Amino acid sequence: MKIKHADLKKIDNLYHEFNNLYNVFLDQLNRISNPVALEEILTHITELRKRLKKLRPTEFFDKLVAEHLMHSLNAQEYYAKYFTGTVKNYDKLIDDVNGKWLKYAKQNVKNYDYKSSWHMMKLNADFYGKLIHADDPKVQKVLEKLVPHIKKLVLDYGKKLGILPSKFNFDISLMPTHRQRSYYLPEINRLELDSNEFWCFIEKGSIHVNCMCAMRTMFHEILGHAAHKVHSAKMPKSLQFDNSTSYMLVNRPHKEGIALNQHPLIFDALTSIKHKIIFTKQDLKRIELDEAVTISNISFQLYFSYLKAKEKFNPKFKVKDELYKTTKNPGIARYYKEKPSYHDVSLIREIAYLTGLRLVSNIKQKYHKSKKINQALLSGCWSWKVLPKFIRYFHTEI
Ligand SMILES: [Zn+2]
Repeated sequence: MKIKHADLKKIDNLYHEFNNLYNVFLDQLNRISNPVALEEILTHITELRKRLKKLRPTEFFDKLVAEHLMHSLNAQEYYAKYFTGTVKNYDKLIDDVNGKWLKYAKQNVKNYDYKSSWHMMKLNADFYGKLIHADDPKVQKVLEKLVPHIKKLVLDYGKKLGILPSKFNFDISLMPTHRQRSYYLPEINRLELDSNEFWCFIEKGSIHVNCMCAMRTMFHEILGHAAHKVHSAKMPKSLQFDNSTSYMLVNRPHKEGIALNQHPLIFDALTSIKHKIIFTKQDLKRIELDEAVTISNISFQLYFSYLKAKEKFNPKFKVKDELYKTTKNPGIARYYKEKPSYHDVSLIREIAYLTGLRLVSNIKQKYHKSKKINQALLSGCWSWKVLPKFIRYFHTEI
């Protein structure tokens, strides 16, 4: 899939360069709101938008790319202005970046899966007092043997599904990570796996490792993000999965939605692929329950952080009252005293997990009979607004 319009091709290249600069700008924002940086960013955005507006693309694919670029630039502009104090509408910012979310999050909070959550807590109680750290040298020896088996399962399964090329491989590291969580580095095709995702404990004098969470992370990072990278490599630059597009805002729901939708595949993979991973019924039950409460947990943490951010802007706003109104659970107001999981800057980006999960699940459901749907979903990292149009185009034209 290539851009035909010559000027759009140029803008796509320029946007790629601009995005590298925007990444630096985001980094700067983490330290200090800098008016000099803002001015430079806004000049680039205005210039790119002016050129985009002049285009009259005739090909439908070109129109989609132009819309994707326009949506990205507008959201990046509003984000830059918001966190440098020029504009004030927090809800508009969240909705531009992620799509409408609040009603959906409140619905999930209202229907919180208390049953699975409680069931999981009871299972976890069996491990109280037995857990040991994954960095223990004795555990590391166990992990050295175990990790290649998990890696093989992920690779074999991805290839069986046809979402990873037959020669695909990746580098993996269990060293402590920079971000204190696991992540995939597309430029060097490397997975930094946080060893805390291995649930390690001692039973009857020997070390046991429940690797289900770590395995789920590998499904997320490799069958999600790495596969997305591979299939987007020949797309226009603004749609590729690389460092330049990694801090683009409006494509995050698509990227994270793909990856979150790969989590449940581990249940099928464990039964349909030959492997040497030893696990108990309890290990499996724990991850099943964890997956079941995921949407409740994500929604609650995002919603609570959002209410705390609202309170910061308006001291008369009462988080406790809002929580009660939504949940009708008087005990939940206890959280009122706790710190939110996300600061209002990172919250904007985290909401992409929730809207992305819904976006990709809805598309998968709608196209459940299609043989092309995986290929379509993995081709390019699209703005959430344009993705459904691209999927339709892929099914009619490709
Ligand atoms: Zn992810």
